[in-house]
Amino acid sequence: MRVPQSAASDDTWPDFICATCHGPAGDTTNTGIVVRGGYGSTRYDTSSLIWVVRGADVYPTGYMCDGCIDRAVSDGALEEFQTSLGAAETGLYLSEAAYHELFCHGARSAYDAFWSAREDSPYVEARDPEALRTVIEGMRYRLSGDEVLASAVSTQRSPLGWGAVNIGYAHAVAAIALGCGEADPGFETAAADWAQARRALDAQIDLASHSTEAMFAAMAEDTDSVADQDGD
Ligand SMILES: [Zn+2]
Repeated sequence: MRVPQSAASDDTWPDFICATCHGPAGDTTNTGIVVRGGYGSTRYDTSSLIWVVRGADVYPTGYMCDGCIDRAVSDGALEEFQTSLGAAETGLYLSEAAYHELFCHGARSAYDAFWSAREDSPYVEARDPEALRTVIEGMRYRLSGDEVLASAVSTQRSPLGWGAVNIGYAHAVAAIALGCGEADPGFETAAADWAQARRALDAQIDLASHSTEAMFAAMAEDTDSVADQDGD
């Protein structure tokens, strides 16, 4: 929602007023789920952040200034997960809570799109929840290529960013395809399980890449000592 304050500026660019502190802001919007940094933001232009808190702890929706974003980030309420201009490591060390909320955001987006187009409601049937969970996970993997369920994973981390949202979205599409809608064994439960598994996978990748580095370092040392011996 844009609030142009024409009297306050003689330039054609409208002023954006922060919905939290009512000070000047850039074109940075807080939807209450994500914050997308835009033109006029010094530190968050092109960045996306996810709220890892809910309800009253989320700042008012609307524009948000850099100062208020800084405060929410340092309070641990908001986490930056993607950027095009900032540090290369942004989004590489996301918390379990951030993964959870990104997944939920994707799942909700799919349900909203589906049910608003269908104009009817999800239905519930008594089926085996455990069997459904497994099938939904399998379909989710096919739709998203989720590394958590892959048998082989990369040996280095890359920022997941909006990929986590897409995995949640794929989960919901799989649930809808099976006629579960939001009555699938629970996208919130799936999000919590997935977030935990993704964090565990991150730790495993780091461990593997560190031990690979250590192995190469040890091999290099061995080669050096062999070279020294040969030289003698
Ligand atoms: Zn503010």
